[in-house]
Amino acid sequence: MAPLNDPKIQTIIGGHDLPTPEPESPFRPRQPYRFSTLCATVENPSQKDQYGSSSVPIYQTSTFKGVGGEYDYSRSGNPTRSHLEHHIAKISSAEHAFAVSSGMAALDTILRMLKPGDEVIAGDDLYGGTNRLLGYLKTHGGVTVHHVDTTKPSSLIEFIKPGKTAMVLLESPTNPLLKVVDIATISASVKERAPDAIVVVDNTMMSPYLQRPLEHGADIVYDSATKYLSGHHDLMAGVITCNREDIAKQMGFVINATGNALTPFDCFLLLRGIKTLAIRMDRQQSTAMRVATMLDHLGFKVHYPGLPNHPDRDVHERIADGPGAVLSFTTGDKAMSERIVGATRLWGISVSFGCVNSLISMPCVMSHASIDAATRAARGLPEDLIRLCVGIEDPVDLLDDLERALLEAGAITLTAGADEHQRYVRATLPREGHAISRAVEKLAFNDAAGLGYMTERCKEDREWFVSAPGKVILFGEHAVVHGVTAIAASVDLRCYGLTTPRHDGKLSVHFVDIENLKHEWILDDLPWDAVTPVPVGSLHPESLDGRLVDAITTRALPPSILSHPKAKQASIAFLYMYMILAHDGRRPSFNFTTRSTLPIGAGLGSSASFSVCVATALLLLYQRISAPPQPAPNREGQSGDPGHIHVSHQGRRALTPQTAEEVNQWAFVSEKILHGNPSGVDNAVAVFGGALAYTKAGFGKKSGMDPIQGFKSLRFLLTNTRVPRDTKSLVAAVGVKKEQEPEVVNGLLNAIQSISDEARRALADPELPRDALLKALSALIDENHAHLVALGVSHASLEAIRSTTASSPYNLSTKLTGAGGGGCAVTLVPDQISESTLRDLVTALSAENFDPYLTSVGGSGLGILSPYNQPQTGVQPPTAPATPPETPGDEQALTSHSDDNTPALLHDPFAQQTISDLPTWADSLGRWLYV
Ligand code: PLP
Repeated sequence: MAPLNDPKIQTIIGGHDLPTPEPESPFRPRQPYRFSTLCATVENPSQKDQYGSSSVPIYQTSTFKGVGGEYDYSRSGNPTRSHLEHHIAKISSAEHAFAVSSGMAALDTILRMLKPGDEVIAGDDLYGGTNRLLGYLKTHGGVTVHHVDTTKPSSLIEFIKPGKTAMVLLESPTNPLLKVVDIATISASVKERAPDAIVVVDNTMMSPYLQRPLEHGADIVYDSATKYLSGHHDLMAGVITCNREDIAKQMGFVINATGNALTPFDCFLLLRGIKTLAIRMDRQQSTAMRVATMLDHLGFKVHYPGLPNHPDRDVHERIADGPGAVLSFTTGDKAMSERIVGATRLWGISVSFGCVNSLISMPCVMSHASIDAATRAARGLPEDLIRLCVGIEDPVDLLDDLERALLEAGAITLTAGADEHQRYVRATLPREGHAISRAVEKLAFNDAAGLGYMTERCKEDREWFVSAPGKVILFGEHAVVHGVTAIAASVDLRCYGLTTPRHDGKLSVHFVDIENLKHEWILDDLPWDAVTPVPVGSLHPESLDGRLVDAITTRALPPSILSHPKAKQASIAFLYMYMILAHDGRRPSFNFTTRSTLPIGAGLGSSASFSVCVATALLLLYQRISAPPQPAPNREGQSGDPGHIHVSHQGRRALTPQTAEEVNQWAFVSEKILHGNPSGVDNAVAVFGGALAYTKAGFGKKSGMDPIQGFKSLRFLLTNTRVPRDTKSLVAAVGVKKEQEPEVVNGLLNAIQSISDEARRALADPELPRDALLKALSALIDENHAHLVALGVSHASLEAIRSTTASSPYNLSTKLTGAGGGGCAVTLVPDQISESTLRDLVTALSAENFDPYLTSVGGSGLGILSPYNQPQTGVQPPTAPATPPETPGDEQALTSHSDDNTPALLHDPFAQQTISDLPTWADSLGRWLYV
């Protein structure tokens, strides 16, 4: 065999250069190569590989040595990318091609041609991300965007203005409704009326194999190469093609300037994917045709340009070489669609398309969830729409899997005269013929009737003010781990949460007591693709959705939050709850501010009261719970509202048990995020208030939480030692002690059980005089503390507090509460103690560097400020709630007045109150509704 460096062989290799052939001989003219040949043949005559490698090498390098060479720095150019771009240009009938980091990066590069004052005409059924970017340009770039129905070329005419219209942005067929746009007619019409306007086409749904818009008058074409071009869902990429030199220069400039070019490794992968584009597409398209035909025969409304009933099939056939491999259909019932999607096995549930694997999705809850429900309805995007993206699997398996899913979901039934070809028919729906689900119909109706304000908006346009108490363990801490009953009670140091509407598509938080965290998110940028919403009326699954937690952590939290563990956990909990509770396309835009009069991290249930505030605020905003109706007028015709009644179980308990239960369940979800494995005691106390007896499961008992009812709240002094505790190691130490000295420790545990039992009986005894109750509790406090000392969980600072409070003239009983080893102490405050003595005690404890809080224990749980008697300003619609619309964008702006001169009434005073004035100010606002 001749060596490879033999000059003869070299000539042969050179001769096999395989350039795209031109007709080369008048006698036996060569045909230009067909598309699949072009795809598979990656050749760039001007970029020969020195070793003749069959596959383009990956030049994984950022810089190149030397001066004046073709390449110097990979942001500006890289040989692997050049090969790819050459190949893309070749298969796209284009002079120039560029490869960037995603489809959106491609659009971003193109949109940077626009200047403030420019106008863009765009379709009204575009990919959601395209809408989002255009929306950003509108608000930040001074660009005007007109969304029109591009399926009707005439609808563009009134918006085409010479000198103003800078760009026309088209997508055909659209995703997911497969609407067809006459690219050729529109391009001609634009060129005629505004010659400088640039026609841009998003060609992702077709790929260059099926449609090459540059051949039909477009100036720029881009593809999300993440889809068909790559074909394997293993990379993100975008490509831009054009024929105009001036445009190419601008694209090259922006890519170099912004640094969004595709990396060498991804260029390699994309190049490899493109080689099989045609063969994949052929298979995917032919199966898609079979799937569309089957669904059409079964009687579903199918959107697919390959079907004879597609309204613009002829237009599509003029411009494209095939109908593609994406189709969609409706079932008439959103729940049924969900069942179908859930019942398929071979069809993966996923956003995106263009992969060799078949995918199924519901756009309204997945890829298009970033468009609000009302807009979706207005654009005729049915909530029950299912999108199918057909892959290369065997068509028989795909059809069989889909048929089974339809059957399992009750969408089709067996026909009586079952024959080979038509074994099934579409099942009759009770609401047969309703292509748009009820929820969307309602929204569409309300919008049509101009009632949007009364539905979606008015619910968002009030401020919700909520609060929830912390908790103390009165008796039984530590022993509870070993099966002894613990008595937990609410403490009237509270967390307060306030939602203030904003109308700029953002969500913001200000957690005053958690690193004073302030942050805002663009709603559409949240990782909605990772959320599995929990429908109204359903319970959250037992375990947290790890995918959503991960997505929030990695995609929604900036390093400034990630570096603060408490801020991070609180943000994850808030966003998780915000996203998982979302339903029917609602995504309220608002600010949520929390403040707490509780010390944070002192074992007083601060996180549970925060969780309860988050859950309540979100449940209210999502209308999963509601405030009770305004009381009817009384016999004298006056308001039946008795006015404000202070925190006490004697007061009116206006919130229903169902509301409380709903909040409690969701607060528990937030607690899981904050604590991993909470007992549920803290959030139950924060919701229900009062006191409860808690017994842990195991030890021959079922876990139980029994409310202790009927006692009036008691005054306590809570003193924070400011010594941080380590609950886990303290609990572990007691466990070890129990193993080493079982008799001693079991004796202590039994004694503590008797204390809990006695306290429970005393608290619940309506006959027991208050004096006697206080005496009994006082004795139990001392006894319980002594046992805790014997268990080894006290601390010098706790003993110091005990000795001060026990000294004359106070003579009060104190015990540690919670884990001990620092943390807080509770001191029972008898009714008859004088205010001046108390003040002295507080001063004495403060002088010892402790933080004393005078509070009540056993008071009300969750509270919601009644929406009916909040302060009001401005003109209200007749039945609208108190605090009305249009709060400007950022948090600073919350202080200012909006368009209609209506301030966010509660926000600023709430943020500005001193912590000691906060409870009184909150109480002064109106009637609080308690559980
Ligand atoms: N255009 C269309 C039609 C798309 O479907 C997508 C993505 O789904 C894009 C553009 C954006 O592409 P990428 O996700 O690669 O940024």
